[in-house]
Amino acid sequence: MPELPEVETIRRGLEPILVGRQIMDVVISNEKSFHGSSEDIKQFIVGSTIKNIRRRAKVLMIDLSTDYSLVLHLKMTGQIILRGAENWAGGHPNESFVDDLPNTSTRVYFVLDDGAKLFFNDQRKFGWIKLLPTITIDELEFISKLGPEPLIGHPAKEFLTRVRRRNNTTIKAAILDQSVVAGIGNIYADEALWLAKIHPETRVRDLTDSQLASILKGAITAMTTSIESGGSSMQNYVKADGSRGNYLDLFVNVFRREGLACPRCGTIIEKIRVAGRGTHICPVCQQPPKSL
Ligand SMILES: [Zn+2]
Repeated sequence: MPELPEVETIRRGLEPILVGRQIMDVVISNEKSFHGSSEDIKQFIVGSTIKNIRRRAKVLMIDLSTDYSLVLHLKMTGQIILRGAENWAGGHPNESFVDDLPNTSTRVYFVLDDGAKLFFNDQRKFGWIKLLPTITIDELEFISKLGPEPLIGHPAKEFLTRVRRRNNTTIKAAILDQSVVAGIGNIYADEALWLAKIHPETRVRDLTDSQLASILKGAITAMTTSIESGGSSMQNYVKADGSRGNYLDLFVNVFRREGLACPRCGTIIEKIRVAGRGTHICPVCQQPPKSL
């Protein structure tokens, strides 16, 4: 599932290519993937110019000159792929990054002024695009409830206040809660806890403020490294020799590395289950809490 850095990678990749371009047409092949009437599409998308591309948590927003926005959620398998004079792809990494498009997982595409096409592909069909007036986005329930953005401003104080409300839960469950901090999913939760040397089953109440701060810092480090490496994009999917690469290899220390050596101490990484999720730890660097 794309997390905050995967969506930020898309935002940064598309911004220089799409801003200022005009959308000429919208082709919808799966009605459930696009929320907006055909009248609104004609009135607010066709002929509009892309003004800005923004992100909040894992949600991407494409602001149009009509004061409407395309709000996108990639969910499990969503991808954004641009084909034209310039090619770009990001999101869930698979062969659609390089296939001829549209293909069987194309749900919606936009035709741009120079004939280039912007594809929304989504194998599992959980993702969606909504057409909404730009000013109403911040009022959407799932947006207004989000915790602070980890990569913008100074989120530490707000994070601490919010994570303390979850004192009785495990730290892993707390940082996966989008109302505690925005955009962290399973990959960056495991990486953050490994970087901070905290066992994921530790209760929030048993952690000091400085340990909680180091977990947020760990999440920020892992996310920044992922984004700066180019994240989940076509560039990291196709290696120079044409073989397939895995963007996770560019920054992960524990996630999906069970059976391999901890990069810090050499102990074999284990996979356990915490907060209902597969969880990767170094059993030496991340000592279990005494209460377990
Ligand atoms: Zn270790």
